[in-house]
Amino acid sequence: MNDFLFPEYDNCKLCPRDCGVNRNKGEYGFCHVDNRLAIGSICRHTGEEPPISGQYGIANVFFMHCTLQCQFCQNRQISLNKVDLKPYIFEVQEVVEKLMLLLDQGCKAVGFVSPTHYIPHVKRIISELRSNGYYPSFVYNTSGYENVEQLKELEGYIDVWLPDFKYSDNVLARRLSKASNYPEVAVTAIKEMYRQKGSTLIVDELAQAVSGLIIRHLVLPGYIENSMKVLETIADEISTNVHISLMSQYNPQFYSHTDLALQRPLYLQEYEVVVQHFYELGFHKGWIQEMESHQTYNPDFEQKHPFEKT
Ligand code: SF4
Repeated sequence: MNDFLFPEYDNCKLCPRDCGVNRNKGEYGFCHVDNRLAIGSICRHTGEEPPISGQYGIANVFFMHCTLQCQFCQNRQISLNKVDLKPYIFEVQEVVEKLMLLLDQGCKAVGFVSPTHYIPHVKRIISELRSNGYYPSFVYNTSGYENVEQLKELEGYIDVWLPDFKYSDNVLARRLSKASNYPEVAVTAIKEMYRQKGSTLIVDELAQAVSGLIIRHLVLPGYIENSMKVLETIADEISTNVHISLMSQYNPQFYSHTDLALQRPLYLQEYEVVVQHFYELGFHKGWIQEMESHQTYNPDFEQKHPFEKT
């Protein structure tokens, strides 16, 4: 059952796929989601960057399916657009209640993970929490494949933007994520986030982010040039004062195709080259990861369903 009807789903152009399908009538676009709210997990998460997780963890909402289909996605159990949504459908109120519970238990922030194709639902969840007297920081954790118009509409809702910037290479973006226009789209989207928040990350007394922008980049084995150009693009077109999370956690176990480079973990030497370039370009704020990160960052959404529905 769908507890709210959102006109934005009538002619869906929420993301740059621009499908124009009527999700309210059960039509499917690229993301293969109709107008129902499908969530893979709601849980307290402690493995994000320190100002995102905070001392008590962030209450993360992992949405089903994705507007990208990255071949190496570590969340593929829920992000593949062919996963059956039926067991994951929930009403807004159920989600709000679960989040209020996590906030009561100490979480200071709510994170929306891969939320792009559910933006109307995201706004509703935020409004419902606020009307219940809950004012956590709201973190928008996205692939970076976003429409600027939607980001502008989210300005009063989102406190911390947490976008990926995955590719500077259009051919790689098409091959690995079915989105050849990803580089242009992502830089335009991140520029809008930067317009809203600038380069200052505001934190509370416990050093948890309450406002700002953090750009994530996952370094892929064999594609160091791509990573270097991503950093150069941020330096040239956005700022070297932004916070960058340079991730080494790529895990080949999630890659099921024939790209030879992606069948192995990232080499330490590759990561070091990118880190060195980070400093050479003048970046000075952010996080780098330990090389064993790929062994500890693997969520398993099949271990336990987020809600034990009765
Ligand atoms: S949100 Fe889904 S249906 Fe809407 S434009 Fe994007 S991929 Fe297409």
